[in-house]
Amino acid sequence: MIDFNEVYIYSEQPTTCPRCSGRTEIISDFSHIKDVIQIHKCLNPSCREEFVIQDDNEFENTFKNEKGPKTVE
Ligand SMILES: [Zn+2]
Repeated sequence: MIDFNEVYIYSEQPTTCPRCSGRTEIISDFSHIKDVIQIHKCLNPSCREEFVIQDDNEFENTFKNEKGPKTVE
């Protein structure tokens, strides 16, 4: 079962398993909805952890601001 109470924040780092740090694959991508969510599954046969990644827009905006002023869209 996927624990939706435990959501990990999407980052620009390659997503790795929170349990074993193994590689993961995207099994569901809900990025077409407002709150960008991806469900990942660990590729490690002895782990197979499934977890939720959410794109934190607020975090992303902060990150962009640190990069410098952005052209108004
Ligand atoms: Zn794992």
